[in-house]
Amino acid sequence: AAHQRADLRELLDSTLTMLKRKIGQDVVVKTDYDPGLPLVPVYAAELNQVWTNLIVNALYAMQGSGTLTIRTARENDHALVEIADTGTGIPEENLGRIFTPFFTTKPVGQGTGLGLDISWRIVADRHGGDIRVESLPGDTRFQVLLPLTEPNG
Ligand code: ADP
Ligand code: MG
Repeated sequence: AAHQRADLRELLDSTLTMLKRKIGQDVVVKTDYDPGLPLVPVYAAELNQVWTNLIVNALYAMQGSGTLTIRTARENDHALVEIADTGTGIPEENLGRIFTPFFTTKPVGQGTGLGLDISWRIVADRHGGDIRVESLPGDTRFQVLLPLTEPNG
């Protein structure tokens, strides 16, 4: 099958390396990887697109400075990847529609409003996982849950 078993730490670190210049000097990156997390069945290239979308959104919300925290953990039969930022936060009235295609609060030309729609489809449809969001001003967390075992074996 197209699935491979991957170390999420390697996927996340390679995305961070790729985004190094975009992250810049004034964003502190903290990582907290669970060393006991098993390998996870993934479509690696697609998941790297998810990390990229979530990190680029986080950077935008921090407007150049803040702290980006990436954490992995095991949650029952799922792996959890949390991407957290200290940016503006998401107003409560927007929380229910950020995954809707073309929903964006960015100025014309700066956002397509497709990043979270695509990310959702990659996580849910392709991996059988889920994305949760918690947001307050200065503390926004996107949590990606990925099953540790493949749907059909
Ligand atoms: P785009 O980035 O093109 O606007 P997305 O689908 O990636 O589209 O995100 C949709 C909207 O969700 C953003 O325009 C923004 O309002 C909100 N959003 C997403 N991530 C964050 C975040 N980390 N902090 C604040 N707002 C966010
Ligand atoms: Mg985006």
